[in-house]
Amino acid sequence: MHVESTLTGCKKFAGVKSILLRPAPELTFRPQQLERAMLLVLLPLFSLASIALALADVLMGTATWFERYQLIPAGVAFGAVWFWCGFTRSNNVRRIRAVTLLLGPGIVMERFLIGLWYTAMYGHDVRFLSSMSVWMILASCLFVFLKPGRGAFIAGFGYYSFAVAALLAFLALARTPVSDEFIQEFMLTYIVGAPIFLTLLAGFARLRSAYGSALHRADKFESMAMQDALTGLFNRRVFSTSMRRARARQARRRTPVSMAILDIDHFKSVNDSFGHNKGDEVLVKVANILTATMRRTDDVFRWGGEEFAILMEETDAENAALVCERLRQLIESENMLPGRKVTASFGVAELIAGEDDSGFFSRADAALYDAKDLGRNQVVIRKKRRPSNPLVKPISDLIDSTDFGRPEEA
Ligand code: GH3
Ligand code: MG
Ligand code: MG
Repeated sequence: MHVESTLTGCKKFAGVKSILLRPAPELTFRPQQLERAMLLVLLPLFSLASIALALADVLMGTATWFERYQLIPAGVAFGAVWFWCGFTRSNNVRRIRAVTLLLGPGIVMERFLIGLWYTAMYGHDVRFLSSMSVWMILASCLFVFLKPGRGAFIAGFGYYSFAVAALLAFLALARTPVSDEFIQEFMLTYIVGAPIFLTLLAGFARLRSAYGSALHRADKFESMAMQDALTGLFNRRVFSTSMRRARARQARRRTPVSMAILDIDHFKSVNDSFGHNKGDEVLVKVANILTATMRRTDDVFRWGGEEFAILMEETDAENAALVCERLRQLIESENMLPGRKVTASFGVAELIAGEDDSGFFSRADAALYDAKDLGRNQVVIRKKRRPSNPLVKPISDLIDSTDFGRPEEA
């Protein structure tokens, strides 16, 4: 994320802003983080472990025909996924989730069905079915874990029911002798184990998604509380947070911070002549000019009514005034109303060390009043006042009080 770009005050950046405004986002637990960790770390490690174990079995000569055969498709499939995730740096959870869902349960089902078919046809050892039951339960749970919701629950159940049907067909048709003990154990895992796991996981997934949507709603309310509904700009509540950050950056980098306040001229008469709706449109157009012109590091606020504030970091008063002059010209030249120009007045001030937020704002506001008094549609800077020291007198006072008169005539 581009940390420098913070609060542009524009609707389309609202999400980014609200994230950046939160003091420590990483302190809030988010289910997506768990999912990402699961997908990118645990699942690949898990599959690596299972491939390594099968490989060890092959090397030690204890692998069954089936484990040997499985190594190739599983190795190729998971290798391809790692390559894709690792080398292409794909961080898209939705895509990784889709591939994982396709590969994981896909390989387990393929292994299960081919195993059943091969065993039924050639009378191989049915031991592999015992180990398959665990994989089958894991694979059906993967649906619910990765995609919480009714659809995934039905898909998980459908998946494992299909496996049970295939197994029943195998037991009915198999030529391989199968012991009662084996059937008992197997039925217990499938008929009792899988549904219990699946239901528990579905409950967990439901909780997880309820928590996720509660967080989402909280985010939405938070950004609603910070944003002005009409223009999408920040409202004045965000100002103190924004100032805190600007001050911290100013102290660190020793760069100036300036503020501009602008007020649309004779806006009341715009409403009176063109109606309140047209007035609203003008406010939105002015807001759009501000957000389109300002840098992404500047913060734009709708202070209230037809008044806006802009906080500019790394900008001194003179440069802030130049920016405001450009904004003034843009507003004046935009055709917002038929047969009438819309203009705005600007007051600019640069933050003085040790000055509090309200003092800073008041100086910009006073400059705005000056601009209005001087005839509107202009930019006025409130210069920095040097802190007055009663011991230091202006040089003119010194000249007055000292006898620097003409040299005495000889
Ligand atoms: P000045 O040049 O001195 O700033 O004159 P003005 O008419 O712009 O100033 P004044 O403060 O008297 O009028 C502000 C007007 O803005 C009054 C109010 O009806 C209007 N206003 C405030 N909020 C909104 C709003 O959300 N939508 C619309 N359409 N008008 C608004
Ligand atoms: Mg006004
Ligand atoms: Mg006003």
